[in-house]
Amino acid sequence: MENLDPQEIRKFEALASRWWDPDSEFKPLHEINPLRMSYISRMVNPAGKKVVDIGCGGGILTEAMRRHGAEVTGIDMADAALAVARLHLRESGLEVEYRKCTAEQLAADRQEEYELLTCLEMLEHVPDPASVVAACQRLLKPGGLAVFSTINRNPKSWLFAIVGAEYVLRLLPRGTHEYAKLIKPSELATWCRAAGFELEAQTGMGYNPLTRKYFLQRNLDVNYIACYRKPGGREAC
Ligand code: SAH
Repeated sequence: MENLDPQEIRKFEALASRWWDPDSEFKPLHEINPLRMSYISRMVNPAGKKVVDIGCGGGILTEAMRRHGAEVTGIDMADAALAVARLHLRESGLEVEYRKCTAEQLAADRQEEYELLTCLEMLEHVPDPASVVAACQRLLKPGGLAVFSTINRNPKSWLFAIVGAEYVLRLLPRGTHEYAKLIKPSELATWCRAAGFELEAQTGMGYNPLTRKYFLQRNLDVNYIACYRKPGGREAC
């Protein structure tokens, strides 16, 4: 059985044609991208690194990492999103390898190939996120770095990330996030430790609806990014 939720994939398929429209449902991803890209570059310089982007969608982050000089593979299970991602390369003139597979499938034939792995805004859309985390660990070289981002699960994150973002501010379509599938940093930490990762750093991400600006912050209550290292080897990054 594949570790994917067909209903989740259908949701992203339906919106895929608008992936690169900065005023579409993907506006928040476009707006947070420079912020998360600069955070990733602070953790490790992507230039010259072999990088894999898990759940890449239309390739917003994938292309940004390529622009920073990485050799990037993007994987996703939504055909339409991958089609848009491939088409967009013609516009951007960038080279990225896109492949339709799950993290678990990629890990079966590309063990310990990558120095950096990103898996942003994806874990909260899969039935078994711990299995994705374990596959991410297998994909990395010893010393490699994995960057995960997702949404915390508590009354405040429900209010901000679901009620606020989907119903009040309408930044995201209703039903984008399911409360029960949101992930506490401690749960992510448990899965990462079980997979053999060590915590490197984590940061929260905030949004000010008045200035419409996103920013990094210490508070992990709502959106957060966590960076884990696969121990061993010479530090790959
Ligand atoms: N990481 C991208 C897109 C996030 S949207 C970004 O942050 O810009 C979540 C993506 O995860 C969607 O493209 C969806 O199709 C993909 N996805 C969901 N379940 C998946 C699975 N099991 N394997 C691979 N991709 C998956």
